Amino acid sequence: MTARTDAFWMPFTANRDFKQAPRLLQRAQGMHYFTPEGREVLDGTAGLWCVNAGHSRPRIVDAIQRQVATLDYAPPFQMGHPLAFELAERMVELSPPGLNRVFFTNSGSEAVDSALKIALAYHRLKGDAQRTRLIGRERGYHGTNFGGTSVGGIGPNRKMFGNALSGVDHLRHTHDLTRNAFTVGQPEHGAELADDLERLVVLHDASTIAAVIVEPMAGSSGVLLPPKGYLQKLRDICTRHGILLIFDEVITGFGRLGSPFGAQHYGVTPDMITCAKGLTNGTVPMGAVYVNQTIHDTFMQASGPGIELFHGYTYSGHPVACAAALATLDTYAEEGLLTRGQAMERAMAEAAHALKGLPHVIDIRNTGLVAAIEFAPRPNAPAGRRAFETFLGCWDRGVLVRAAGENIAISPPLIINEAQIGQIFQTLAEVIPTVA
Ligand code: PMP
Repeated sequence: MTARTDAFWMPFTANRDFKQAPRLLQRAQGMHYFTPEGREVLDGTAGLWCVNAGHSRPRIVDAIQRQVATLDYAPPFQMGHPLAFELAERMVELSPPGLNRVFFTNSGSEAVDSALKIALAYHRLKGDAQRTRLIGRERGYHGTNFGGTSVGGIGPNRKMFGNALSGVDHLRHTHDLTRNAFTVGQPEHGAELADDLERLVVLHDASTIAAVIVEPMAGSSGVLLPPKGYLQKLRDICTRHGILLIFDEVITGFGRLGSPFGAQHYGVTPDMITCAKGLTNGTVPMGAVYVNQTIHDTFMQASGPGIELFHGYTYSGHPVACAAALATLDTYAEEGLLTRGQAMERAMAEAAHALKGLPHVIDIRNTGLVAAIEFAPRPNAPAGRRAFETFLGCWDRGVLVRAAGENIAISPPLIINEAQIGQIFQTLAEVIPTVA
């Protein structure tokens, strides 16, 4: 690399190590990245869980180029432009019934913090101003803004910051190697963990609890699938106690599990859904919060005259992001990508579970077009070393996978074919035995 590397402070990166031996990407096309040296790397991670239609799709690229040359920017407060309205309508066609209002943000983190603020404001407007407690789940990832850091449940992401907001609780996570290891698809055991919410209701009283936020499938902490019946139970408890249920679908939205959203996949309808990533196929930053009509009507009817929600971003519903999203949704629809995970699930499952028995592999999980391999931690070493060394070995062999804690996560673009699935897991099969 010719450019100096000092100035750029990289996010979630071991900067000092990385800058000794940078891993750089220069170009991308379809299922592949290309490095500055011209090496081809099969993308087993859809970038960072976002490039669901594959890279550099001409239709999306054209839409972005045309839009930036036509209307480069429009202020979003007390002003509008047609594409934002069109996109929200199109998005509502994909969401579960009732989730028919859309608030735009620029990232998953902003979507999460927006949803939490909407929950607090909703209860206030209803006269329930004491409902302020927010509940997340251990091992949940909800981005890195203040609200998301607070409800998030990954220790290292919190502890540098003194645990962020007060008045937050966490349900236990659902990962259970004793009862569910090597389950193909959704685990059988653990629905009763949703009763943690009942315990918090007993402890704090429902009248103090605003919302519960969970990922239907926890992605960043290692592809943790919800046990059968768990999400339904959470839904029932929330409904019984007037607590809003938020699904953070930043990863599971737009087809990862084989349905447009995890809500449909698991047959459970939350009150709000956060999304981002796949909304624009990763091309232009954009996120959104879907809210149900009851929540939206409360703002329209119970707020004072004028502005109903004092919240928003300079780039909410940015025209270029809207154009990218509309072209992305067209691509998903034409190619059937939002349900392709159903047809491909078997190939992923077979390839992933064939790694059972390799050294240090203690669990394998899969659903739709996502899978994870979990390693036993290496004794007396920093956390996640085996996963990280596996990631490096695959990178050297031309396959991009993701190290997430002690796990390798595989979440390729939804256009992947069976031969490419084979290449990813064959590479893992070669690399894992080389990792001590
Ligand atoms: N929520 C979930 C479930 C996520 O997976 C992520 C990102 N991986 C976020 C929120 C944060 O999104 P962003 O990085 O776009 O802020």
